[in-house]
Amino acid sequence: MKYVSTRGNAPAQTFSEILLGGLAPDGGLYLPEAYPHFDAADLARMRGMGYRELAFEVLSRFADDIPEADLRALIDRTYTAETYGHGRPDSDFGQITPVRRLEDGLYLLELSNGPTLAFKDMAMQLLGNLFEYVLAKRGADINILGATSGDTGSAAEYAMRGKQNVRVFMLSPLEGMTRFQQAQMYSLQDPNIHNLVIRGVFDDCQDIVKSVSNDLAYKRRYRIGAVNSINWARVAAQVVYYFKAYFAVTQSNDEQVSFSVPSGNFGNACAGHIARMMGLPVRRLIAATNENDVLDEFFQTGVYRPRASAETRHTSSPSMDISKASNFERFVADLTRRDATQVAALWREVDHGRSFDLKPTGLFDRVAEFGLASGSSTHAERMATIRRVWESHGVMIDTHTADGLKVGQEHREAGVPLVCLETALPAKFEDAIREALGRDPERPRGLEKLEDLPQRYEVLDADTQAVKDYVASHAND
Ligand SMILES: *Cc1c(COP(=O)(O)O)cnc(C)c1O
Repeated sequence: MKYVSTRGNAPAQTFSEILLGGLAPDGGLYLPEAYPHFDAADLARMRGMGYRELAFEVLSRFADDIPEADLRALIDRTYTAETYGHGRPDSDFGQITPVRRLEDGLYLLELSNGPTLAFKDMAMQLLGNLFEYVLAKRGADINILGATSGDTGSAAEYAMRGKQNVRVFMLSPLEGMTRFQQAQMYSLQDPNIHNLVIRGVFDDCQDIVKSVSNDLAYKRRYRIGAVNSINWARVAAQVVYYFKAYFAVTQSNDEQVSFSVPSGNFGNACAGHIARMMGLPVRRLIAATNENDVLDEFFQTGVYRPRASAETRHTSSPSMDISKASNFERFVADLTRRDATQVAALWREVDHGRSFDLKPTGLFDRVAEFGLASGSSTHAERMATIRRVWESHGVMIDTHTADGLKVGQEHREAGVPLVCLETALPAKFEDAIREALGRDPERPRGLEKLEDLPQRYEVLDADTQAVKDYVASHAND
């Protein structure tokens, strides 16, 4: 399997070759030349498989340059009930991604039972093991530099802690994260994890990471890498649970299922799209946004209009507060039937801060063929949804999942099971839960005293040079 850039101007590479990198050299995103396909016999065989077997079935098609025995060992080490056993006490952790029935035909897919209580653990934990494996083979090391407003940073740190030849330098803003999120990250004592708290806001952190990445000489010298949401291995790992959930809620492979996905960078929804392209009988794939509705606007109108960061609203589902959906380019590449010239032309607009409109090109008419639908949710709607689900089903959901459920139900069809992806647990967003329900969220066992643990972090000015100096002096530890 070879991977090519959405913009068509980069050499084809293998899975391991693109694993540690970010964008393709032409600025595009990597996609497999063609998606592997599961036929009826494959699907029949896959029904009934446990998570690890299913993960191997899917990922071995994408990572065919890793010897099968090695890939199997990496998967078996990653997807264990211990690692994914931090959720509600009555969850079936042996399933790794258990499905919870809310009512007939309506399900919650639990993706947030990993160590940081958000779905990003599903892919990031595998990435940690893959990085260690590939770096050991090459005799190389990497210094991961990132910026976080909460979920990504902690998922990356818990995935990379203690890994050989990997160091993490994670920038987080002095203000803006919840106390729980801060405690999650800053209580890690592993010497290869560096929390750099920046006197500024999230955008300052992101600007610093960008400006370090633009210094190619520095980047090469200190072997700077990233684990952002465009990483192909992350998307590929997320494909697996769509299959797992499909088999869990259907009796036969003739049935169709719809999925509702709380969306920001479109990584999770893109994985669902790819599962569908691989032959999974997905009827609708519903992208749910909050007030930052750049994706919903596109699916309603055909206009993709990335926002300036000043236009990005701070909401009570903060992990979806994005101004452009970085994985969206992968979907558009499929929409154009892989016309790289066309994709490159569209993103020439985006990269210059402009929008594009797919209606006049005729491409927008194809969106429905791909099963995509969308909607958005406001603060008041997510509060009402959290209350409703608590009152009618006795299940506490977080704000992101509430956006997904709200929008999913607007697109629900009789006779078609709807699976809503749970992307975080309510414990991460205490203030919002208190506002919605007048009570504190449940905390998974073992995390009751998280905020009391000793914390380890370095406070730095919002200054690129200060960050460069810090990384340089720890890059060879
Ligand atoms: C990252 C995140 C999202 C958005 O996922 P994308 O793949 O970026 O679309 C939604 N909910 C939560 C809780 C997240 O952490």
